[in-house]
Formats: sequence, structure tokens, C-alpha cells
Amino acid sequence: MTSEFAGPPKGSWITVSARSGKLEVPDDPIVGFIEGDGVGPDIWAASRPVFDAAVEKAYHGKREIKWWEIPAGEKSYRVYGEHLPNHSLEAIKKARVAIKGPLTTPVGGGFRSLNVTLRQRLDLYACVRPVRYVPGTPSPVLNPEQVDMVIFRENTEDVYAGIEWKSGSREAERIIRFLREEFRVDITPDSGIGLKPISPGATKRIVRRALRFALENGKRRVTLVHKGNIMKFTEGAFRDWGYEVAREEFHDLVVTESELFEKHGGTIPEGKILMNDRIADAMFQQVLLRPSEYQVLALPNLNGDYLSDALAAQVGGLGMAPGANIGDACAVFEATHGSAPKYAGMNKVNPGSMLLSGAMMLEHMGWNEAAQLIVKGISDAIRSRTVTYDLARQLPGSREVSCSGFAEEIVKHMG
Ligand code: NAD
Repeated sequence: MTSEFAGPPKGSWITVSARSGKLEVPDDPIVGFIEGDGVGPDIWAASRPVFDAAVEKAYHGKREIKWWEIPAGEKSYRVYGEHLPNHSLEAIKKARVAIKGPLTTPVGGGFRSLNVTLRQRLDLYACVRPVRYVPGTPSPVLNPEQVDMVIFRENTEDVYAGIEWKSGSREAERIIRFLREEFRVDITPDSGIGLKPISPGATKRIVRRALRFALENGKRRVTLVHKGNIMKFTEGAFRDWGYEVAREEFHDLVVTESELFEKHGGTIPEGKILMNDRIADAMFQQVLLRPSEYQVLALPNLNGDYLSDALAAQVGGLGMAPGANIGDACAVFEATHGSAPKYAGMNKVNPGSMLLSGAMMLEHMGWNEAAQLIVKGISDAIRSRTVTYDLARQLPGSREVSCSGFAEEIVKHMG
């Protein structure tokens, strides 16, 4: 390693129990971090002291995160000539838990998104986005506190997998000819073509994860969101395979909506979870009109992408939305906004998304007390109206502070 990136610090590795499959987290875990591009270094510099302060306040020195910088993005390119070297992927696998800032994807030029590459190479198949209102945050809806959902978006398939061919290309023309000759399907000859694969295996593992999460976290409702009325063999199949997992693997623990009314008088029986499904377009209305009826959502990739951002807006925007990409081997928590290059190096943007992703990471590690301190600190800092520019614009009478200034305010409010 060069001087800019050191090897792993002294500490202990997070492992997975062979018996239960659960994470085993030592008191001095080595956790990976990627600063990210653009505003990434700003929000990381502000956030790291908040994470350390929360852990210190919660466990009084008994626990401490040992941070290990993992090369990625422009900083990695400067040192290694690669934006995402293989040893970085190996490092994330070794650490099992990592947190990252945003990574820039230059438009065009055949440059693949580093985020998509990370998800695919590490098989981080679940994009998990909790959407919860942090009290005090300005919101465009009347009752943002009614929103408390966790989205499980499938991360590896769907039109989002990027299997597509340009209009007029030899490949597009061949596929169009093949469809005409073999299936009598007529497509306008100069069309661009994209494929939408959705498989039972990938569907079942995301729905299984959503159901397990609901069971482990006392949630009572899991909703499959799809556009199966139109795309029957992809989105409709997603719904069918989702119910199949519930029936085959969670038989005693799940009731469906029809069973709820036929057998249980409309009340979810004690100790059970309701599984229902909604058509995606109707769901966009439901989350605005009846948000309190939904808790855990499982969606295919593209609809999951749209709904995640729409819901984030309901509780105060992307600057405050946490997220994680989780697989069976490792998990990468991330600020969900981009690298906002025009603000890079200005110590100006809101570190909230990175901070709440860190809180989510601490919960994933079982360090819930530290996670709660971060949420409390953010909420109280916002209530005291000492905030970054994006929130200040929406909060009359507030005092605007820098990215690091906001982080310091949060630490003060941790109590
Ligand atoms: P962006 O999220 O970087 O910025 C859009 C605008 O949102 C900014 O100009 C700013 O006004 C606001 N904003 C973003 N983050 C903010 C914050 N923390 N606090 C306050 N305001 C904030 O989106 P973009 O301009 O479309 O993308 C820039 C780059 O980031 C692109 O290269 C894109 O590919 C990449 N990107 C990366 C990720 C990721 O790493 N997960 C996600 C999205 C985009």
C-alpha cells in the first residue's frame, strides 16, 4: 500500500456465525470506509467524529470502531490508476461492513457506474432504504411523521441491469429480426432494445430478506409492489414468487390479505405478519394518502428506485436519506445523494444522509444505543434550527452553519 492508503488498523474482524448466519461484532471492529468523490471528503470528515462520539457516549470506551480506508473513486485512480481496484473489493469482503460517500460517474465514454459495479461484484442484492421522519425536518407533506417504512429493492436484475442495445446497432437489428421471424413480434426497426430479466431466485432472496427483517424488528406488514397487471411474467411473477416464499418458508408466520378478512375478521393475528401486494402506480398514491398502513416494502429494481426517492422527498429529501446495499457476505452503507461536484471542498453540504446511513450501519452491527444517539443528535440540532444551507432555506429563522458545523451541533445535542 502507498502512504495515502494504509493497511488495516489494529483491531478485530467482524465475522459471521457458522451456526446462525448472524454477524459477530467484536468491541474493536475494523470497519471499512470510502470517502467518495466531490463532496464525499467533506461529509466524511464531518461524519466520522459524530460516529466516534456516539460510540464513545453509548459505551464509555468499551467499544471503538477501527476505521480502515478502502481505495475507490478519483482518489484511488490517482494512486493506483484504477477507480475500483480488485484489492478494494477484497477489503470490503474481509471487513464485511463498510460505509461510503458518493462516487462520481462521468457521463458517456463507456465508464460504468462504480456503484453498480460494487453492487454486482460483491453481489449486494438488497438495496435497503429506511424512510423515517426525523422530527423537525422541513417536509412538503402535512404529516411526514406517519411515514415509517423500510424499502427492500432488488439490486441486480430488471431493466436496471443495463442489458441494452442502441437504436440502429447490429445487435438491436438482429434481435428485432429474430423476434419477427421466431415469434411474429413486430418492433419498429430502428428501436433501441432493453431487456428486463426477473428470476425466481433473485426475487425470493429479496422477499426472504424483507420478511426476516419484519420478523426480527416487530413489523406487522410486508407489501410486494409490482406492475404485474401489465408485465405479467416479470413484475407479476415477482408478486407470485414473493407469495411463494411466504407460503413455503414462513408458513406459520404470515397471513395474506384474503386470509385476513376470510379467517381473521380483518385483524392481523398476534405474532403474525400480513403480506399483501399493491400495483406500483397505486402505491405512489398510497404512500401519500395512507402512509401509516405500510411498513416493509419489497420491490423489483426500477420501481424500487423511483419509490425510494419519492418517499425520501416526503420526509425531507435526499440530503437526509440513508441507504445500504446488503448481500449475504457483506454490506455497504452509503449516502444516497451524489457527489454534488459544484459544492466539493466547500464544507457546505448536509452530512445527514451519511450520518443516518452510519446509524443504520450501527444498527446492523447491533450497536443500537449509538445509532439512537445519532438520530437524537440530528433531530435536536434541526429543532434548534442550526442547520446546513439546504435545510436553512426551508426553515424560517434558522442559522446556517457549515457541514462540519452542523456535525458539531449534532454531537452537542447527543446529550
Ligand atoms: P447529486 O446528488 O450529486 O447533486 C444534485 C444536487 O443535489 C446538488 O447540486 C445539490 O444541490 C443537492 N445535494 C446533493 N447532496 C446534497 C447534500 N448532502 N446536501 C445538500 N444538498 C445536496 O446528483 P447529480 O448532480 O445528479 O450527480 C453528481 C454525481 O454523483 C454523478 O457523477 C452521479 O453519477 C453521482 N452519483 C453517485 C451516487 C452514489 O455514489 N451513490 C448517487 C447518485 C449520483
